[in-house]
Amino acid sequence: MDLYEYQAKDLFAAHGVPVLPGSVAATPAEAREIAAQLGQTVVVKAQVKTGGRGKAGGVKLADTPDDAEAKAEAILGLDIKGHITRKVLVTPASDIAEEYYVSFLLDRANRTFLAMASAEGGMEIEQLAVERPDALAKIPVDAITGVDRAKADEIVAAGKFPAEVADQVADVLVQLWQTFVGEDATLVEVNPLVRDPEGKIVALDGKVTLDENAAFRHGTHAELVDHAAEDPLEAKAKAKHLNYVKLDGQVGIIGNGAGLVMSTLDVVAYAGEKHKGVKPANFLDIGGGASAEVMANGLEIILGDPDVRSVFVNVFGGITACDAVANGIVKALEILGDEASKPLVVRLDGNNVDEGRRILAEANHPLVTVVDTMDNAADKAAELAAAGV
Ligand code: GDP
Ligand code: MN
Repeated sequence: MDLYEYQAKDLFAAHGVPVLPGSVAATPAEAREIAAQLGQTVVVKAQVKTGGRGKAGGVKLADTPDDAEAKAEAILGLDIKGHITRKVLVTPASDIAEEYYVSFLLDRANRTFLAMASAEGGMEIEQLAVERPDALAKIPVDAITGVDRAKADEIVAAGKFPAEVADQVADVLVQLWQTFVGEDATLVEVNPLVRDPEGKIVALDGKVTLDENAAFRHGTHAELVDHAAEDPLEAKAKAKHLNYVKLDGQVGIIGNGAGLVMSTLDVVAYAGEKHKGVKPANFLDIGGGASAEVMANGLEIILGDPDVRSVFVNVFGGITACDAVANGIVKALEILGDEASKPLVVRLDGNNVDEGRRILAEANHPLVTVVDTMDNAADKAAELAAAGV
């Protein structure tokens, strides 16, 4: 789960990373009120879960409460890379002498954690990595030893930070690492980390991604979810304990086992190339041992997606044999009744497959087509989706 900047900064503050105070406003009047309380020049910042807000006009200085109201008026509602701004952060403006970059992240490719640091922050880090790769230090961090003061010093040296801020930046790195580990984050990023004219270091922006698999360890993380901005289908699936991710295609996908579902996405995307470019509409893993009820819940979510034109049910019978899955599909269609309104392509294989296919043939549901192989089933599902586009 990605956090908003103000949420990221709250976590930073809790772990000692220096940030400026501030509050969030949903209306221009609220922004004015916060600016009046701060009693100084403020920055009004769009709270959207994407970068590049500055360039998009989502970060503006305001000298007076009136000005803060006007700037909030301009920023609220702004579309930044497809994210509509619903809230702004109003925070004291800081004078900037220099802008730096620091982050910790989970480096999946190298199976380690990684520190990235640069004395040349401010601009987008992807751009810095391409244009000035030598200016961006990348230091692996051992999960067991983590970032102590010595490791922080190593990162500061590699990032070529000026000597006069080295101590402070090292302190920030240790505190930022504590945020990363303590909150079970997969990313903590500060861009820019700034030095003000008095030489003080402060995190002016913050980006945090939390590992949702660790949510059970953090009672307060649930409060960070922005239900208003959640995809309604994903929220509904979550409430039913389904592993569902909405995608932007037209072929609904149900499978058992994450690996099988991921390969199903690939074969459907490939098959779609021949059928008007249709694509998978979602990821949904109903897991091993799926009951008729779970199948019905899954189908209900997928059929409730207005983009879906056809559904591909791809199941490999293991511990739950194909006959149980076939019965599950038949019962699920009974439960759904008229709600089941889109063509279903079913591919069953594995344990007790003959009986599973017999059950589906006997049920002879008008919406169901049984196809023997995964590739042919993907092709059929894509063809049916294309016919409905
Ligand atoms: P991003 O564009 O989404 O990464 O948003 P940032 O929070 O990083 O803000 C973008 C840029 O706005 C920063 O790199 C700064 O140059 C500038 N900015 C943000 N806050 C302040 C501030 O308090 N004072 C000044 N002078 N500039 C700021
Ligand atoms: Mn930034």
